[in-house]
Amino acid sequence: MGDPDTEGEGSSEGGSEAETALDETVERSFTCTFCGFGMIHEVPLLQAEAQSVCYNCGDWTTQSADSEVVVRAAETAAEALADGLMTERQALAYLLREVAGLDRQTTADAMESTPSNVDNLQRRASEKVDAARDLVDGLETLESTTAPEETPEELPETPDADG
Ligand SMILES: [Zn+2]
Repeated sequence: MGDPDTEGEGSSEGGSEAETALDETVERSFTCTFCGFGMIHEVPLLQAEAQSVCYNCGDWTTQSADSEVVVRAAETAAEALADGLMTERQALAYLLREVAGLDRQTTADAMESTPSNVDNLQRRASEKVDAARDLVDGLETLESTTAPEETPEELPETPDADG
């Protein structure tokens, strides 16, 4: 599939700004989807929806954040995550769709792209995330079952592989 604006590994805009703490929570404005009342919640960086008692309705309602704000947060996070393993746009598509839970069209608009291209970016990112999780799982399994005490048997000298 030849997508116009995919990949391009070298989108090196250099200058990584102050490290973003991805585990930071932020104070974000939300709007009650029932009555439109505005509230502030402290939420994880990419949370686009919150549920709480609305101070106006008095009911347990869903409140949604301005998607632009979430997109901006996701862009910052994507920049922090894109590091050799996946491109910034792959990371962004993944974060907006899978973490923030935005729909395809909103994500496409935010990325000035098309829904189908967002799908592609997201799929590539998912593959990498899955692979990374498998790697970490595998390592954890190995680390938890290996007795570190034993010294490995000495291997016969390997011929010099430098070439
Ligand atoms: Zn309300």
